Amino acid sequence: MENRWPDAYKVISILENAGFEAYVVGGAVRDFVRGVKANDVDITTNALPLQVKELFEHTIDVGIDHGTVLVVLSEPIEVTTFRSETTYSDHRRPDEVTFVHTLEEDLKRRDFTINSMALTKEDKLIDLFGGKSDLLHKVVKAVGNPKERFSEDALRMLRAIRFSAQLDFTLDSATEAAIKVLHPLIIHISIERVKVELEKIWMSDYPSKGMDLFTSTGLSKHFVGNWEASACWSDFESFGIKANGWAFLILMNKDSSYREILSAYKCSNIEKKHVKEVLVAVDCLKKGRWDSVELFQFSEEVLIAASSYGRVLYKIKHSYTPEKIIEEKRKLAISSKRDVVISGNDLMEWKQDKRGPWIKEALDKITIMILNKEIKNDRAQIKEWFFREYNN
Ligand code: ATP
Ligand code: MG
Repeated sequence: MENRWPDAYKVISILENAGFEAYVVGGAVRDFVRGVKANDVDITTNALPLQVKELFEHTIDVGIDHGTVLVVLSEPIEVTTFRSETTYSDHRRPDEVTFVHTLEEDLKRRDFTINSMALTKEDKLIDLFGGKSDLLHKVVKAVGNPKERFSEDALRMLRAIRFSAQLDFTLDSATEAAIKVLHPLIIHISIERVKVELEKIWMSDYPSKGMDLFTSTGLSKHFVGNWEASACWSDFESFGIKANGWAFLILMNKDSSYREILSAYKCSNIEKKHVKEVLVAVDCLKKGRWDSVELFQFSEEVLIAASSYGRVLYKIKHSYTPEKIIEEKRKLAISSKRDVVISGNDLMEWKQDKRGPWIKEALDKITIMILNKEIKNDRAQIKEWFFREYNN
């Protein structure tokens, strides 16, 4: 891994030279075996957090109670002490974290076989639970007894589905059967963590696979909104925007639960604004096309989502493709309010009046007239219109 992950290699070498064991674990090993580039590299070691901190100049305590220290070289790498987890009385957090002595004990507490492999700095794979074979057969399979593992931490049920959607994997049959029995435990998981997983499903390459499993396993029953029309999701595309999933869900619910859904999932104000705009743009599209003012007012992202969801969920007939939307927006007389050649100061001077709500009103009127080609975006023309309208 010397060239592939130079920082991880350095961290492991330093730990080994100090007499400790250290390995790359988790998602990075999974992605390495699949032959794709990993997002981030996590390291596991038998060194205790304080021992890790002593060996590196720049570290950040992120979860020292859970054994994790961030070691900062050119970028931060998570180094976590071998640990196991004791009893879980709340189905989401171990009552206590225990540091353990062997790699095997650490790998055993990990969620799925594909996430339970470790790699030495010489690229030797340590695969105690058949992770490589499950990767080859494209299955997500819990490490050990799936019912026990999902009772310990109910979030794993949703993670299983998220990984199937990201990787295009099936769920191992015992793993799937366990979710079908234990799905009610998902209510113990905070809505913020559920939201993260759902959004990862939407942003994945196979969102409809994830949404099918979310409903067919029974998990969706415990959440606000009617998720059951899962067939609709087969035509869902996120267009790279997480919040589009919420817009799609609300449209699928025929708008009735707009406020309820956005607040139940604690969507941010920025997400709420995006969703609302997509809903309004779909509404405008019901007449078959967007007029110049609508094309101007909504962003390209909003229009692309609205054109797709309007077609899929409301069977609106229109000819908008993403390319056509971009082209139509380019044809507009102006592309932003800043493009209008006159300003509020001009208006105040022309009217010899002070600042007030009238300025925005007049500027909006001017913008609309320019978009509708009633006047040109030209100082003389705008001034002439303005004098006629306001100075009489
Ligand atoms: P991603 O590419 O999404 O980051 P990842 O596999 O790295 O995928 P993380 O959530 O970053 O996922 O977790 C890192 C590793 O920690 C996992 O690969 C898994 O071994 C372990 N892990 C994470 N969450 C859990 C959990 N809830 N239960 C058991 N093990 C977990
Ligand atoms: Mg990760």
